Amino acid sequence: MTEYTATIGLEVHVQLKTRSKMFCSCAVEYGAEPNTNVCPVCMGMPGALPVMNEEALRLTALAGLMLGCEIAPVCKFDRKNYFYPDMPKNYQISQYDLPFCLGGTVPLHDLAYPKDAQKTIATKDKMIRLVRIHLEEDVAKSFHMETATGIDFNRAGTPLLEIVGEPDISSPEEAFAYLTVLQQVMIYGGISDADMEKGQLRCDVNVSVRPVGTEKLGTKIEIKNLNSISGVRRGLAYEIPRQIAILRAGGTLEQETRRWDDTRGETALMRIKESAHDYRYFPDPDLLPVRTESLVAAARARQPELPWDKRARFVADYGVSDYDAAVLANDLDLASYFETAAKGAKKPKSVANWILNDLLSSLSAASLGIAECPIAPEALDELANLIESGAISSKQGKEVFAEMFASGKPAARIVAEKGLQQVSDTDAIGGLADEVIAANPGPVADYKSGKTSALNFLKGQLMKLSKGKANPAMAGEILEKKLQ
Ligand SMILES: [Zn+2]
Repeated sequence: MTEYTATIGLEVHVQLKTRSKMFCSCAVEYGAEPNTNVCPVCMGMPGALPVMNEEALRLTALAGLMLGCEIAPVCKFDRKNYFYPDMPKNYQISQYDLPFCLGGTVPLHDLAYPKDAQKTIATKDKMIRLVRIHLEEDVAKSFHMETATGIDFNRAGTPLLEIVGEPDISSPEEAFAYLTVLQQVMIYGGISDADMEKGQLRCDVNVSVRPVGTEKLGTKIEIKNLNSISGVRRGLAYEIPRQIAILRAGGTLEQETRRWDDTRGETALMRIKESAHDYRYFPDPDLLPVRTESLVAAARARQPELPWDKRARFVADYGVSDYDAAVLANDLDLASYFETAAKGAKKPKSVANWILNDLLSSLSAASLGIAECPIAPEALDELANLIESGAISSKQGKEVFAEMFASGKPAARIVAEKGLQQVSDTDAIGGLADEVIAANPGPVADYKSGKTSALNFLKGQLMKLSKGKANPAMAGEILEKKLQ
């Protein structure tokens, strides 16, 4: 049976995080009353003139820098002409032959893949190349009701990045990882909140299949209406086998646009693609070409650490594992929480362990984000240090942690209130050891006759006698010494 391979290319639209629209001063505001953030410019009134939003230009330069693109010294805006009810000017201001950014790459990493696919990654650390990034204005949003369609122009004219990727992606899981990394870069740079549910990150998928070992790409099919990163994965996981099954049965595929139905879990035909549109692009006469030098300089000044650099630094500076560094750096708020806590910690790795083993699960059980965490990062390093110094045992630490999470009280106060001080005094533990040895002649004899496991029993008795306050490591050592 012929084996097939998939070729996937993604076009991603990202809404920039600016206060005002691309070519007018109307506010960009998610969820505002329909048609309240509008003016003659974004409504496309004749004679209204566009004025560029400089922050949108800077954010585009920043996206280009972060993704390793080549930034054109001069770019310009063009009119893309087409008629559509959600575009009142009958053209969209976009960029055609002189886009802002060219090339660039999106580096995938293990943790960007879906959890269930992280152990079976086909190509580790794969780089997905970008074709270009250009800046354009968004169109209005249509709402289809039972008998009518309403159009909200609040979205019309908001700045939008179009990130066009090379068809380097070969599986639904890689598409998932690609979108996850892109989203992370956008959030790290403050370029966009990139929330797919709010439509701040939208994605069109092109997918074709061809027999393994052949060069010529198969018929390209576009999938629309993918509203989440996991939806993209599910859509592709449905569409690729569908195409392969048709070819295997001797059928042919037509160039078409299909719609993903998330509830039914399948794609359905929307329309057969006719010949390519002729958008009659021409330079927008109302907008001068843009020299990008000063914009790039401004963007460079505010370029944040990249997610992959942060991961490497966490490993180098704090001695955490690659995996832990990736979990910590996956979320910008979590990363800064960890760094604040790690700064004051004697052993940053133990702070990382508290976060990854206890804090994240407590937060998720309480349905809280890291931003609403009841334990301040400085308080967590205090807890880690109390254990590190031997003031409390790690078992007591768990109790203190639970109380900190519930009450927000500092660790030292909880330790004092609960009388949890760990006993690390050799004489005190020695006294307890003598008592335990005297009270348990049987196990003592067992131990002396070579049954080493009896020591654990005696140690348990000592811990019980100390009400859990004895330093367990010291208890074991002292018992052993006394039984020699
Ligand atoms: Zn406006």
